This record gives sequence, structure tokens and C-alpha cells, in this order.
Amino acid sequence: MRILVLGGTAEASALAAALARRADIDAILSLAGRTSNPRPSPLPTRIGGFGGIEGLARWLAEQRIAAAVDATHPFAATMSGNAAAACARLGVPLLGLRRPPWRAEPDDHWIEVATMAEAVPALGTSPRHVFLTVGRLELAPFATAPQHSYLVRSIEPIGDALPLPRVTELRARGPFDEAAERALLEREHIEAVVTKNSGGSATYAKIAAARALGLPVIVVARPKKPAVAEVANVAAALAWIAGQQRALMLRGV
Ligand code: NAP
Repeated sequence: MRILVLGGTAEASALAAALARRADIDAILSLAGRTSNPRPSPLPTRIGGFGGIEGLARWLAEQRIAAAVDATHPFAATMSGNAAAACARLGVPLLGLRRPPWRAEPDDHWIEVATMAEAVPALGTSPRHVFLTVGRLELAPFATAPQHSYLVRSIEPIGDALPLPRVTELRARGPFDEAAERALLEREHIEAVVTKNSGGSATYAKIAAARALGLPVIVVARPKKPAVAEVANVAAALAWIAGQQRALMLRGV
């Protein structure tokens, strides 16, 4: 059975590793190409956009994809929307592998906002030293708040994405652990953290570290994703794939 895995997350990598061990499944991993040096995958990997819904539908048909798993990041809403539309058009079963969002704990000081633009006023008007862990493509709104200084962590160089005088760049790729995150926040005298509500364990340590230090965290809520069949972990995704295999066999395909 030929399966497409839309990737770019730790869960997609784990699913890819599990599928690579299966002789009965011919899977292909797709990445957007946002990072110049992606972690190598044991699955055959294609890189780059498909060209919207039309391009994806064409590609699914050409490649005779029997089922697809959308394991993209919770904030990759366009890709998920395109996948839902293209798969529905062709009758290709689609599963969303979607990790649950983080929830605030009693000792957390979260300010939850709906968009990245709303995170900026949530930082307040007085100057603060802010840790931005939002991805380099989401930095632009913070240029309107030059009273703050920023420590920006990203996988790729940020270039001129945040053209302010007091911006320090920190290049790193998760997973991160809590002790190191706490040491970083203390060493850098961070006063507020901004994050997407990504969910999952790979980048949760900053939330726990901020809690331990009593720091405020501006948490940007997730965009809406299309309503498709959904699971929260790799084991459940593998069970769904097994179900699709059985259904194909019953139909004699
Ligand atoms: P997006 O806004 O939903 O997608 C924009 C376009 O990028 C899509 O229309 C598609 O181009 C292409 N694309 C996205 N994911 C793709 C994939 N897995 N394979 C092939 N093409 C893909 O996505 P994004 O937020 O820019 O995220 C891009 C990638 O980075 C995703 O794979 C996501 O899992 C990963 N990622 C995103 C975030 C985040 O915070 N957004 C964080 C970590 C990882 P076409 O229309 O041309 O097909």
C-alpha cells in the first residue's frame, strides 16, 4: 500500500521510522523544505510544495497514493486544508496525526492570545527582555515593539526578519530539556517568553522552565485545521493504517 506522510514534525519522523521497517507498506515522506538541513529520514523523501490543492491532487493520482497521513505542525494550516481538499476530491482516506495542545497548569502565568499579532501588545509597553520561540517566519509583528529586546531562537538564520537593534539570535533545534531551558532563561535574564501552543514534548521544556521561574508566557492559540479523522500518537496512526490495508484487501485492490 502506497502512503503519503506529510511531515515536518517529530511525530512525522517517528511515523516515518516505523513505516520504514514495514515491507508491506510503500511510504513516502513529504517536507516543505523550510529547513536547509532536515534530519535524514529512512523513508524516501520528497521536498517542496505540491502547488496548492490542484498540484497535490495531481501528485496523489500520479503516485497512486492509497492513504495519507497529515502529520504537519499544528500551525501548518494551509497544508492541512489543501490535504483535506485534495484527498476528499480523489477519495483518498486522510488521517490527521495531531498532538494535543499544551494546557496551563496552576503555577503557570500564561497570557493566551489568538494570533501572533496579538502577542505583541500582550508584552506590554514597558521594555522587557523577551524570549521569542515562534519560528523565524513569525517574527515580523514584533518589529512594531522596538522598546523590547529580543532573544530569538530558530533553526535557520533569521536574516532581516526582525530588523531591530536589540535582537540576539540563538540557533538551535529541539528537543530541549528543562534544566538547560531554565539555565538559558536565567543566564539571559529573560522576563517573558512567547510561544505557539505547539503541544508535544520536544519543546515543552521552556514552558516548565518558565513556570519554575514564575515568568509570564504569551501562548499563541492554534489555527483551525479541517475536520478529518484524527489520532494523537504514532501507535494510533499505525493502527489506522492497518485498518486502511484491511479495507483495501477486502475490496481486492
Ligand atoms: P503551511 O503554511 O500550512 O503551508 C504553506 C505551503 O507550504 C503549503 O501550501 C505547501 O505548498 C507547503 N507545505 C507545507 N507543508 C508541506 C509538506 N509537509 N510537504 C510539502 N509541502 C508542504 O505550512 P508552514 O506553517 O509553512 O509549515 C511548513 C512545514 O514546516 C510543514 O511541513 C510543517 O509541518 C513544518 N513546521 C511548521 C511549523 C510552524 O510553526 N508553522 C513548526 C514546525 C514545523 P503547496 O501549496 O505548494 O503544496
